[in-house]
Amino acid sequence: MPVRSARIAPCWLVNKPASQSPAELAAVEAHICVTCGTQFAPSAAPPKECAICTDPRQFVGFDGQQWTTLQELRRAHRNTLRQEEAGLYSIHTEPHFAIGQRAFLLQTRQGNLLWDCVALLDEATIQAIRDLGGIAAIAISHPHYYTTMAEWSATFGDAPIFLHRADSRWVVRPQAHVRFWTGDCLPLPGGLMLVHTPGHFDGFQVLHWPAGADGKGALLSGDQPQVCMDTHWVSFMYSYPNYMPLGRRTVEDILARLEPYSFDRIYGAFPRRTIYRNAKEAVRRSAERFLNALGGSAPVVTTSAQRTSEGAE
Ligand SMILES: [Zn+2]
Ligand SMILES: [Zn+2]
Repeated sequence: MPVRSARIAPCWLVNKPASQSPAELAAVEAHICVTCGTQFAPSAAPPKECAICTDPRQFVGFDGQQWTTLQELRRAHRNTLRQEEAGLYSIHTEPHFAIGQRAFLLQTRQGNLLWDCVALLDEATIQAIRDLGGIAAIAISHPHYYTTMAEWSATFGDAPIFLHRADSRWVVRPQAHVRFWTGDCLPLPGGLMLVHTPGHFDGFQVLHWPAGADGKGALLSGDQPQVCMDTHWVSFMYSYPNYMPLGRRTVEDILARLEPYSFDRIYGAFPRRTIYRNAKEAVRRSAERFLNALGGSAPVVTTSAQRTSEGAE
């Protein structure tokens, strides 16, 4: 498919408008949805509802809408940083909070990128990330992981946040440093590339890291393709918690948009959901299985011998 270039030039740190300092941000109460981890603009009372959770892709918890704050979250939760490979660290909150995704710190010679985000940002995390070189820019696959991106940006020098413009309506805490982009791909410093793959959300983006997986290339995919519990496979859903699949045309479009990029590994949204080898083939094979199922055919069955030769560690 033809690739349209993005309409804005990427840059890490230019034209930074003034914003609240981390101390000012910490002093105000910005409510965080307990079910999805999204932080809203500061307000005296909590919002009436969470726009992310009342969307058909998400859900309001069994006990109704619940709110917390970053200050409360810091009391009982911690982040774990784990080196996934040279230059890549995952960041995950324990005990489980909200959706439970991991974020990643990706180191490049031209600055570090935070890929996806988690709601908890505390002193230990800030120090650990500073020791690894800080954060020059942020990019987030889709609104389920926007969480406290405003806090992360403010803490790390007003780092720009690269989001696809098609998802601009989901930014519920207005933020001066969001750089909305349009088009099919956006090159970032360090050889990284954001690729627009609409489906789970209209503005869904994945991150291609050519130097990952020992130079064979890695894809950081968030929720799409979603690395399954059987880490030889991925899936493509409009809603994961509500089991709503994407349609044939959308899945075929996602495959076509990923086709120009080489990758041997996929880091999915959740801890240990990584396809270590032959990931591009796993995406192709998974799409075929998925589309067969949509068409009413029986699922493809693979033997354990086939499975062990194909991917996960
Ligand atoms: Zn929510
Ligand atoms: Zn999602």
